[in-house]
Amino acid sequence: MKNQNYFISLEKEYGANNYKPLDVVIEKGEGVWLYDIDGKKYLDCLSSYSAVNQGHCHPKILNAAINQAKKLTLTSRAFRNNVLPSYYEKICKLTGFDKILPMNTGAEAVETAIKAARKWAYTNKKIEENKAEIIVCSENFHGRTTTIISFTTDESSKKDFGPYTKGFVTVKYGDIYEIRKVINENTAAIMIEPIQGEAGIKIPPKGYLSEIRKLCDENNVLFILDEIQTGFGRTGKMFAYEHEGIKPDVVTVGKALSGGFYPVSGVLANKNVLDVFNPGEHGSTFGGNPLGCAIAIAALDVIVEEKLPEKSAALGDYFLKKLKTIKNPMIKEIRGKGLFIGIELTQKARPYCERLQKEFGILVKETHENIIRIAPPLIITKEEIDFAFDAISKVFS
Ligand SMILES: *Cc1c(COP(=O)(O)O)cnc(C)c1O
Repeated sequence: MKNQNYFISLEKEYGANNYKPLDVVIEKGEGVWLYDIDGKKYLDCLSSYSAVNQGHCHPKILNAAINQAKKLTLTSRAFRNNVLPSYYEKICKLTGFDKILPMNTGAEAVETAIKAARKWAYTNKKIEENKAEIIVCSENFHGRTTTIISFTTDESSKKDFGPYTKGFVTVKYGDIYEIRKVINENTAAIMIEPIQGEAGIKIPPKGYLSEIRKLCDENNVLFILDEIQTGFGRTGKMFAYEHEGIKPDVVTVGKALSGGFYPVSGVLANKNVLDVFNPGEHGSTFGGNPLGCAIAIAALDVIVEEKLPEKSAALGDYFLKKLKTIKNPMIKEIRGKGLFIGIELTQKARPYCERLQKEFGILVKETHENIIRIAPPLIITKEEIDFAFDAISKVFS
């Protein structure tokens, strides 16, 4: 009988050491529940970093995946396939953008947005060749490629991976005056997360996004929002930017776009931006493949049919209010929007995550040493939230 330690040591022996997972070996997922190889049940309060907003192995997405996998999985973009157009239409109509460019991982979507913004800057705004600048924020998380880590402010993601890509200007997150100071005629775009997830559910001051929108309009600059983690209902709206009633020029999406089945990402924008690409200038072998498209269609249907943004708003409010009743001097702040909640501690969060797992069957993960991110699948019920709350309040009593 192979136990958890067997799998853990095998992984350590043969795998690169670039993650520090909790030592729990999961073998099955169903809705909000995960089961380890000994059959012990856990309430998932991370949702694979918001990739499974629809819950694990959602039957509707599963069906779509199986049916499509039996028929056709990949044509590459050398040929057309009959699933991609319906997916394009569905996501564009749902989000109100003219067009989409399909990719696979979040980082690829961000790379695509950067390339689109740069080309737009040279061909539309007429910025001098190789002078385009993109404004980004401190504590950002946009992925792991060499270009993206070139503008991270997280030392451990960056150190020893140089030389770095030029053309990025970093300002403090949440401070509109800092953007005003650095914006200039070479600014192609401002790219931010509407709420910073990896940084620990950092919510910018009210009005920040609408101020940026105004600044972008006044200066002919593209506003790129990375909604890879915040999108598709996580914060209580389909997209987090809806909280401020604005619309960005470009949105990167990923994670929950496939309900966790398969890497599906994309860049949404209007024609004036995405039409900068001509055949041969950008692409991906798997981007827009029929399997991914069929999965994404079903994943989007589930979000709409099961009213996941509305659920996230109502249950997130309920959960946050309850959490705020926990009184403990170790808790520095509890903040959130929808079912996207951060508990910031004055000390290391890891031991609390481990206790929640081992003693209470709740799976959460620390981000940045001292913050616990809580982001359960959006199909969670009130009773399941009460169960999670009881455990969390016990751990902090
Ligand atoms: C997860 C994430 C990414 C990167 O997505 P990958 O699929 O891991 O490449 C980019 N931006 C944000 C905001 C994310 O949360």
